[in-house]
Amino acid sequence: MKKTLIYGIILIFCIALFSSCSSDNKSGKKTNYVTIGTGGITGVYYPTGGAIAKIVNKKRSTYGIRCTVESTGGSVFNVNAIMAGDLEFGVVQSDRQFQAVKGLAEWKEKGPQKDLRAVFTIHPESVTLLAATDSKILSINDLKGKRVNIGNPGSGQRQNAIDALTAVGINFNKDITAEHVKAAEAPGLLQDDRIDAFFYTVGHPSGAFKEATSGMRKARFVKIVGIDSLLKKYPYYAKSFIPIKLYPGAKNTANVDTFGVKATFVTSAKVSEDTVYAITKEVFENFDDFKKLHPAYQVLTKKNMLEGMSAPIHPGALKYYKEAGLM
Ligand code: GLU
Repeated sequence: MKKTLIYGIILIFCIALFSSCSSDNKSGKKTNYVTIGTGGITGVYYPTGGAIAKIVNKKRSTYGIRCTVESTGGSVFNVNAIMAGDLEFGVVQSDRQFQAVKGLAEWKEKGPQKDLRAVFTIHPESVTLLAATDSKILSINDLKGKRVNIGNPGSGQRQNAIDALTAVGINFNKDITAEHVKAAEAPGLLQDDRIDAFFYTVGHPSGAFKEATSGMRKARFVKIVGIDSLLKKYPYYAKSFIPIKLYPGAKNTANVDTFGVKATFVTSAKVSEDTVYAITKEVFENFDDFKKLHPAYQVLTKKNMLEGMSAPIHPGALKYYKEAGLM
């Protein structure tokens, strides 16, 4: 008797699910569900996915697109999930876009990700190092012998941390106690004195650093300098700084020098031209509204959103850029 009831409930659930997946909207078109892969919820990718989805979903009856956002392990995870067809879109660091297209870093064995397509670029991200003040870490060189979170394997920051450490002669396998957890967990570990410092490549302000600089254990941003060789070697890295006014809880008194990349919005060649066109068009035609959705977007212009792409531009995006006279 109980079993029949359970089967009945499962059946009703399946019917409801099936009918919602194939539901038709006002335009008579079948709803096209697309998912954007982002990052941890205390980063900027997650609200970025939310901002894009918010703008696109307003036009659901016009395009029949329903956009959802997924919190993920970050850039590397997003590229791989898009290539596997598990996600349609993703936010990805510009350096990771470059490496994926060329078959470098995490893609060395898999080879070039030929189907990766660029849509546009978004906010700048800084390779950010934060340390507890009691750890006496004043520069990246002081990390030797310390417990440092370099990031989870799916993240963008992991390779950035390794590159920065290597540039100053620190071997992350031998010279530090490297942790490999997600950035969302790092502030808690710092506060609990289980790590001394962590790297996170992210736009500012971000929830992760607000959290990490407002706890009982005081913390300061640490400059990453002496990396000229790194900037010369890798075309995708550029100097940047962390505006300290964004983090009143941090123990710094001046902006902190480091280097950075850009967040970019990518998809697969397998995603339809109509879908990519619609999303690109809505973000660009509602540019002023979009810019208001996160303080990290302050510096955005329509022009600089077309700079920093290394994958071929998706034909749907290209169609809009030509139509709008942006290309
Ligand atoms: N840059 C990080 C990554 O690629 C994510 C930053 C964020 O979520 O804002 O993993």
